[in-house]
Amino acid sequence: MILSPMIDAALAGGLGLLVGSFLNVVIYRLPLMLERQWAAECAESAGTAPQEAAPFDLVRPRSRCRQCGHLIRWYENVPVLSYLALRGKCSACGAAIGLRYPLVELATALLFFFSVWHWGATPAGAAWCGFSAAVLALALIDWDTTLLPDDITLPLLWAGLILAALRWIDVSLPQALWGAVAGYLSLWLVYHGFKLVTGKEGMGYGDFKLFAALGAWFGWSALVPIILMASVIGAVVGIAMKLSGGLREGGYVPFGPFLAGAGLTAMVFGPASILRVIGL
Ligand SMILES: [Zn+2]
Repeated sequence: MILSPMIDAALAGGLGLLVGSFLNVVIYRLPLMLERQWAAECAESAGTAPQEAAPFDLVRPRSRCRQCGHLIRWYENVPVLSYLALRGKCSACGAAIGLRYPLVELATALLFFFSVWHWGATPAGAAWCGFSAAVLALALIDWDTTLLPDDITLPLLWAGLILAALRWIDVSLPQALWGAVAGYLSLWLVYHGFKLVTGKEGMGYGDFKLFAALGAWFGWSALVPIILMASVIGAVVGIAMKLSGGLREGGYVPFGPFLAGAGLTAMVFGPASILRVIGL
C-alpha cells in the first residue's frame, strides 16, 4: 500500500485544521481565563465579595464578532474555508477577521500532516501532533501577552518525560530527564546572572519551563542547538522589528516564540540540522 501513508497524513492534516481552529480559541481565551482567575483570587484574599461572573472558558460563551457581537454560526466557523467565503470579514458588520486565524489553522494542519507523514499513524506520530499544537499555542500566547501559561508548559514537560519512558519518542529517559533539568537550570542561571549584572529581567519563568519541556522531548544534547537557533531567530526578528518601527512599548520582545520556533524546527529537520545551517 503505497498510497496509505499519504492518506493517513492527509487525514491528520484535516484533523490539524480542526485542532488549529480550537487553538485559535485557546490562544485568545486562555490568557483571559487566567486573568479572571487571578482577579478572583486577589479579591478573595483582599476579603472583597467575589463577583458573580458569567461562565467564561474554552467553550462558553460561544464566539462572537469582537466588533459588533454577531454570534458566529457553525458555517462561519469552518477552518480556512469560512475565512475565504467571508472574504475575511464579519458577515454582519464587515469588520476584518484577522488573517492569523486561517494561518494558525493552516500551520497546525501542515505540522500534523508532517508528523503523520514522517512517523506514520503511530503513537509517535500522535505524540508529535500534540507537541506541535502545544508549542504553536505557546508561541502565540507569549507573543500576544508575554505569558507562557503553566497549563501548557508543565503538561508538555511531563508528556515529554512520559513518552520517552514509554519509548514513544526517540529519546532515552536519561536524555529526556537531564534535558529537562539542564533546560530549566541553564535559563534560570542566565536569568539570575543577567538580573545581577543589569538589574533587569531578561525573560521569565515560563521560558525556563518551555526550554525544560524541549529538553524532555529532544534530550539534553539538543539544548545547545535549540537555544542557538532561538537566539538567531530572535535577533533577526528583533532587529527587523526595530528597523521597521514595529517594536512595542518598552522594546520588549518575548523569548518564548523563538524557543517555540526552534522547537518546531528541531522537530521537522532534527536538532542537529540547526548546527549545519549556521555552519558549526
Ligand atoms: Zn461583526
